[in-house]
Amino acid sequence: MSTKKIALPVPPHIVAKVISLAANPDCSVPEISKILRADPVLTAQILKAVNSPFYGLRQKISAVDRAVAFMGIRAVRNLVLCLGVQGLAPPKSPYPLELFWEFSLRRAGAAKCLSKRLGLPEPDEMFTLGLCQDLGLLALIGENSEAAQKLASFARLPAPERLAAEREMSLGHDVLSTQMFEEWSFPEGIVEPVRFHHDPEAAPEPYQARARICAAAEAIADMLEVDDKRLTLDVANAKLEELGLNVQDMGTILDDVSEIVTQAAEMLQVKVGRQPSYQEIAEAASQGLLALNLSYQSLTEELQKSLGEQQKLAQRLEQLNKDLERRAMTDELTGLPNRRAFDEAVRRELERAKRIEKPLCLLMLDLDKFKIVNDTHGHQAGDAVLVEVAAVLRDTCRACDFAARLGGEEFVVILPHTPKDGAVVAAERIRQRVEEVQIRYDKKILRITVSIGVAEVKDPGRPRAEVAAMRSADDALYEAKEKGRNCIVAAD
Ligand code: GH3
Ligand code: MG
Ligand code: MG
Repeated sequence: MSTKKIALPVPPHIVAKVISLAANPDCSVPEISKILRADPVLTAQILKAVNSPFYGLRQKISAVDRAVAFMGIRAVRNLVLCLGVQGLAPPKSPYPLELFWEFSLRRAGAAKCLSKRLGLPEPDEMFTLGLCQDLGLLALIGENSEAAQKLASFARLPAPERLAAEREMSLGHDVLSTQMFEEWSFPEGIVEPVRFHHDPEAAPEPYQARARICAAAEAIADMLEVDDKRLTLDVANAKLEELGLNVQDMGTILDDVSEIVTQAAEMLQVKVGRQPSYQEIAEAASQGLLALNLSYQSLTEELQKSLGEQQKLAQRLEQLNKDLERRAMTDELTGLPNRRAFDEAVRRELERAKRIEKPLCLLMLDLDKFKIVNDTHGHQAGDAVLVEVAAVLRDTCRACDFAARLGGEEFVVILPHTPKDGAVVAAERIRQRVEEVQIRYDKKILRITVSIGVAEVKDPGRPRAEVAAMRSADDALYEAKEKGRNCIVAAD
C-alpha cells in the first residue's frame, strides 16, 4: 500500500471542536451553542436548517441555542460535519459532489438504521460514522481534478473493487478518512471504526461492532449504487447475517434507509435523488439472472445452430468428396467407370472370387475401324458412337457386371461368377447389340462393330492375377481383330 500522505486542508477548527464535544455524552447544549456562535456563517446555516421545511416549524427559531436544543446535539454535529467538509472540494468538481453526499448519506442512514435494529444505544452516533466513511475522499477530490475524475469513474464499483482502485491511485477511502480525522483530533470511536470498516475483524475489540456496522452500511449503499444488483444484494444479505439480522428484513431496512436519507438531505440541505426500493433492486437482481439465463439460452441455441451448420457443412463436404471421387472414377464422355475405377473394381472382384471360389471372366472390347468413323464423320460423330456403345454395355450387362472405358475406343467388362463359356455368351450378346445399334448423328445413321477378347482369371489369389488375365484377354482381342473383327475370341 502507498504511504503517500495527502495534504489535508485545514478544517475550520470549529468543526473539530463540535465533533469532539459531541462525542462526550455529558456535552451540553450551551457548550455547543457557544462554539457555534463564534462563527456567524455556521450560525446562519444552522438557523437555516432548523427553519427548513424538514422541521415544519410554525414559528421561526432565531437563536442558535434554541436550534441546538430543538435539533439535538448529534444532528447539529452531523450538520456541522457536512458544512465543515463541504469546503474541502471545489463546488465545480469533476466528481459530482451531489452524488458524493448522497452516497455518504446512504452509508450514514444505513448505519443508523442497522444500529437501531441491533438495539444499540446511540443510532445517531452511527449516522455520523456512516457519514464519515468516505469523507477522506473529499481531500483527494479537492486536491486535483484529475484525481476527482478518476475517483468518479470508479465511484459505482462494488466497495472492495473501489477500494482497490483507490489504493492504486493514492490511498483507500478508509486510510484517507482516518488520516483526516486523526489530524482533526476526532474521537477514537469515529476514527477506529472508519479505519477498519473494510476489515472489522482486525479492529480493536471495542470498535469491532461499529466497524461491522459500517461494513454492512457500505454493502447496503452498494446495493443502491452499483450496477450489479445480483452481486451486491448477495453481499448485503451476507453482511446482514453476519450482524445477526434477518435477511427477510432487507425490504424494511431499505425503506427506513430511504426515509432517513431523504430527511437528512433536507435537514443538511443536500440534494438527493429518489431512493430505489428493495422491490426494484430485487427485480433488477432477478432480471440480471434472467438476462444471464437468456444469454446462456441463446448461446446454447447458437451453439446448436452452429453445430447443425457444422453438420450440414460436414455433410456437404462428404457429398463433395463423394462427387469428386465419383468424378475421378468416371469417364467424362460416356459416364462409364474409367480406368482407375476398373483397377479398383478388378482387385475387389478378384478378392471376392478367391473367397467364394467362383470363376471370374474379363472381356476386352475394341471398336472396329473406329478411326474411319472419326475420319469420315468427324471427332464428334466418333464421340456419339462411343456414348452409344457405352449405353449398350450398360443395358446388356447384369447388375453385378462391371463395364468400364479403358480409354479411346477400348472397353472392358468384368463378369463375376461367370465361367468362360458364360462369358462368351455375354460377349456375343454385346457384340450383336453393338452391331445392331443405329447411331443417329447429324441426320445420318452410323453403325459400328466390336471385337471382343474373352479371358477367365486363373487362380484369382495369385499376385497380379488381373494383369495376366488382361493380357490374355488382350491377346484374344488381337486374335479377333486378326480373324476379321466383329467377332469373339476366348483365350485358352
Ligand atoms: P481397329 O479396328 O484395328 O481397332 O481400328 P481402329 O481404327 O478402331 O483403331 P485405331 O487404334 O487405329 O484407332 C482408334 C481411334 O480412336 C484413333 C483415335 O482418334 C480414336 N479415338 C480415341 N479416343 C477417342 C475419343 O475419345 N473420341 C473419338 N471421337 N475418337 C477417339
Ligand atoms: Mg484401338
Ligand atoms: Mg479399334
